[in-house]
Amino acid sequence: MSNRFLAAIGIAAATLTAAFLPLYSHAADPVLNLYSARHYQTDEALYSNFTKQTGIRINRIEAGDEALLERLRSEGRNSPADVLLLVDAARLWRAQIDGLFQPIRSRVLDSRIPPSLRGKDDGQGAEWYAISTRARLIIYNRASVNPGNIRTYQDLAGAALKGKVCTRSGAHPYMLSLIGAMSEHLGESATEQWARGVVANFARPPRGGDSDQIKAVASGECAVALTNTYYLVRMMRSETPEDKAAVAKIGWIWPNQSSWGAHVNVSGGGVTKNAPNREAAIKFMEYLVSDQAQSYLANGNNEWPVVASAVADNPTLASLGKFKTDDLPIAQIGRAQITAAKIIDRVGWR
Ligand code: FE
Repeated sequence: MSNRFLAAIGIAAATLTAAFLPLYSHAADPVLNLYSARHYQTDEALYSNFTKQTGIRINRIEAGDEALLERLRSEGRNSPADVLLLVDAARLWRAQIDGLFQPIRSRVLDSRIPPSLRGKDDGQGAEWYAISTRARLIIYNRASVNPGNIRTYQDLAGAALKGKVCTRSGAHPYMLSLIGAMSEHLGESATEQWARGVVANFARPPRGGDSDQIKAVASGECAVALTNTYYLVRMMRSETPEDKAAVAKIGWIWPNQSSWGAHVNVSGGGVTKNAPNREAAIKFMEYLVSDQAQSYLANGNNEWPVVASAVADNPTLASLGKFKTDDLPIAQIGRAQITAAKIIDRVGWR
């Protein structure tokens, strides 16, 4: 092949590239910059469907909640983030207090998400919305516990469970939200007394995440523990022999069914304060509450949809049974973490 021929091909290729490049890098291509603490593989389809429906490309930054919040705070006004997705009311409320969200008005969101599942609303729209729910339940070792004796979160502080209770750190948002909710129902001093009782019942110092609590109950290291529902369901759906063996050893209790109901928390999100692509951000939030997206969100992490018409279609999750839920507004639970943090410091639940 002659050098002149190769040169001709080179020029043709360069011309083609120059002609087509703008199509792929046009500045007006609609994009959405998503900061998400959700990191479930099943969320992939959720995001690609949005792009298919709207033509809006999603740039995703995924990290732990704390890392995302830190990043947003340090980026300040220059943050490229449009939407921030977090888990737990405690963290959503923290982001709200830090001024990371802006209120939005959307007839779609307001008609599909009940007021009790929205963040701060000063009349200009809510700053954040729940997009899925999970509950915090009590799990127990079948060999060592008579489940009839444990009916409430309060029972975790009872004398019968001396040396038998495992928990993660009280400073974790999942615990702060639960303890905060308790204080809304019982008052601060009764909740502190309860927390002191739980700490006195520890089988070991707090450590690990919810999955570790489930394993510790299965192994007999402790008789009872607390977990978010999706960790339990994930383990129930697992095919590994270790998980199957662990699940066979445990049972679960829906707490407080004769009083205020089981503690329910959320994952959720909102449009960030300085969103460069505000329109796209609102469209994305509205998309997240469509029936289809709600099913993806719920099934991806074994949670419940927040929209009544969405179908969970998750037999393992359904096998946990129907239960009474605590209907404290989620924003109130988020705010109650201030009281909860004081309580855990005073009782040494770290
Ligand atoms: Fe979690």
